[in-house]
Amino acid sequence: MTLYLHDTLSRRKRAFTPRDPNRVTLYVCGPTVYDYAHIGNARPPVVFDVLVRLLRRTYGTGAVLYARNVTDVDDKINAKAAREGVPIGEVTARYEAAYLADMAQLNVAPPDLAPHVTDHIPAIIAQIEALVVAGAAYAAEGHVLFDVAAYPAYGALSGRNLEDMIAGARVEVAPYKRNPHDFVLWKPSKVDEPSWDSPWGAGRPGWHIECSAMIEARLGLPIDIHGGGIDLVFPHHENEIAQGVCAHGHDSPEAYARYWMHNGFLTVDAEKMSKSIGNVLLLHDLVQSIPGEVVRWALLSAHYRQPLDWNPGLLEQSRKNLDRLYGALHRAAAVPASTDEPPAEFLKALNDDLNTPGALATLFALSSEIERAMTAGDHGMVARAKGELQAAAGLLGVLQSDPDAWFGGADAELKAEVEALLAERQAARTARDWPAADRIRDRLNALDVVVMDGPDGATWRRRS
Ligand code: AMP
Ligand code: ZN
Repeated sequence: MTLYLHDTLSRRKRAFTPRDPNRVTLYVCGPTVYDYAHIGNARPPVVFDVLVRLLRRTYGTGAVLYARNVTDVDDKINAKAAREGVPIGEVTARYEAAYLADMAQLNVAPPDLAPHVTDHIPAIIAQIEALVVAGAAYAAEGHVLFDVAAYPAYGALSGRNLEDMIAGARVEVAPYKRNPHDFVLWKPSKVDEPSWDSPWGAGRPGWHIECSAMIEARLGLPIDIHGGGIDLVFPHHENEIAQGVCAHGHDSPEAYARYWMHNGFLTVDAEKMSKSIGNVLLLHDLVQSIPGEVVRWALLSAHYRQPLDWNPGLLEQSRKNLDRLYGALHRAAAVPASTDEPPAEFLKALNDDLNTPGALATLFALSSEIERAMTAGDHGMVARAKGELQAAAGLLGVLQSDPDAWFGGADAELKAEVEALLAERQAARTARDWPAADRIRDRLNALDVVVMDGPDGATWRRRS
């Protein structure tokens, strides 16, 4: 079955054919590790985790090479380290570990490669040197700048025209720039900032060059698929293309990446969830009280290119949906699955530019089939539908827990204790005794159970 992907550059769905089916390459811009990730930040890793699962199924596990970088030097990291009076490595190690733990809760598999900027300074310098030699970059006052006039296709990805951009420019332009849109490849470091030696003096790389240099060094050019959030189209990905193409004297954007995929925003009241707006929900907090699988389901409930509005109803609905599917698997627990192939309709949806809402809908059809077949005592049909459901869910990275564990799966003693604590917590809340409610929540946490609040009261299960 052919996979169709919407390509941002050509603005249409294109049949996906890798350059080499034995080595399918994919790069997604990863986190800047200076703080905890919010749910919006989780959308790209979850979406591309599904794509990687699908590609591995088609081309073989070992034939897909997936890289997601870690930006571990940046102004925000420097500022945080300075505030805390610690080296940047301490800040980045802390938040990278938190990021990976959060991703694990969402059942996002680690990428094959997680290149760090601070480990690739020689590769970055080499690509900047190549750009200077190619006449696409120039050194000025300790900086190296990309010369946008040297790349005629600049603006192709974002649909901007350089002349219009220049005409509309209102930014104050640094005196060493030839053109207001020339961007930094290398810059001098301020005192106390991390710094590396280079042919242009001690300094550090700009943001965009890290990705094109690490892609060239770790995956090789061109890669098959480049992904990220829609906010990265301009300037970040536009600049990546300019660098990756010009460093080797090419002119077609295809010399850098063959397909470009961008996910839409996660929004709150129609506004982008973002730290600068201050409307963020941290994953780290959310997964304390809600199973990561519910969050993953919620993130996959809309098509990745559409905006996804985050609200409490979405989580509630996602939990109910998972309850229903786990309920069918629970009921069919004694019947062994007779297939490990997802149904054709499911694959058709997923191969249509990752239509996850369509794919999720087919899971409900299978759970209904299981329920009907159980009632009718048709074990052959149960075995087939159960196998199809599990295989399909595996591609989406959901329904991977034991149904018993999902519904609690606790021994009688724990059950009694948790139920008692929940009743106490309800009483404390009714009395608006928040400190008491908090103490009870801590005791529930200590018992390693996850409590899920809903309109019909709280339910709970063991933390998996
Ligand atoms: P940042 O921390 O802003 O550099 O973002 C890291 C990644 O998360 C990038 O790929 C962004 O495009 C993505 N991202 C940030 N905010 C959102 C959001 N509200 N919805 C979807 N993706 C987002
Ligand atoms: Zn990038």
